[in-house]
Amino acid sequence: MKKLLPTSTVGSLPKPAWLATPEKLWSPWKLKGDKLLEGKQDALRISLQEQQLAGLDIICDGEQTRQHFVTTFIESLSGVDFENRKVVKIRDRYDASVPVVYGDVARRKSVFVDDAKFLRKQTNKPIKWALPGPMTMVDTLYDNHYKSREKLAWEFAKALNEEAKELQDAGVDIIQFDEPAFNVFFEEVNDWGMAVLERAIDGLDCETAVHICYGYGIKANNDWKKTLGSEWRQYEEIFPKIQNSNIDIVSLECQNSGVPMDLIELIRGKKIMVGAIDVATNSIETPEEVADTLRKALEFVDIENLYPCTNCGMAPLSRNIAQDKLNALTAGTEIIRKEFSL
Ligand SMILES: [Zn+2]
Repeated sequence: MKKLLPTSTVGSLPKPAWLATPEKLWSPWKLKGDKLLEGKQDALRISLQEQQLAGLDIICDGEQTRQHFVTTFIESLSGVDFENRKVVKIRDRYDASVPVVYGDVARRKSVFVDDAKFLRKQTNKPIKWALPGPMTMVDTLYDNHYKSREKLAWEFAKALNEEAKELQDAGVDIIQFDEPAFNVFFEEVNDWGMAVLERAIDGLDCETAVHICYGYGIKANNDWKKTLGSEWRQYEEIFPKIQNSNIDIVSLECQNSGVPMDLIELIRGKKIMVGAIDVATNSIETPEEVADTLRKALEFVDIENLYPCTNCGMAPLSRNIAQDKLNALTAGTEIIRKEFSL
């Protein structure tokens, strides 16, 4: 019988301090060459061990082999200049130093496939692999060539689709596309964003997910959240489009968020990764708090479709806090499993 309420994280987990400076986004590597490759693989092993110790059911790579969830993928494409970066405002919110698109973009080689094969060899549990979504990629660079967010997004979708097919063949069970930009540019999502994402999953047999959140727990995001008022209704704008798409799973931010839980009714029938762990605070959820969020979600999600998860990635947190939060996630899930087995 399939396990009820399979638990997982959104993707990223803190890296060991010998690999990259902790509690920092875009943290530079501390190793080089062969040592870096070996270090990344060792970090991946540790991340797997920590997820298994916490009792998670679906395993991720903890994004131990990438510097950033968007730019590491873009870096491997042709047509992108990673040396001469530009500072742009991303997600309409904060400045970031990003790569520049100067020519036709294309995927020259696989990006994460070797890493996925490596993880596949280490565990028999289902594995989930995160890729950036095309719209979020477009929103994390400076385009000096296509001069059209939509055109560039279609090109990225082609590259992502090639990568996703190889990840699937490497034994990845769920491929997740991270689209925090979906929570900001509703008109574009409805115009072309969702269609482009469907191009990225075209022809895949494995399960597919889209992760839409309010961002990592960094100051710019936390400040933005304060301006959103008591009810965060962003999801409402895009859920109808998602409901009519071929995406299997939707990963959402629910813990400590202003998202009215009943919005999830709009995507009833989809599998929902319910964020029950807040990644923007160092305080550890109690198992009861996690269970409470899951209980509320269960009013709008059939239990066989509910996947307890984190709100977002945990890369910027300390390792101890991340581990305690993973333990809280599985302990809280266990409370609900017991309730439903009675
Ligand atoms: Zn996120």
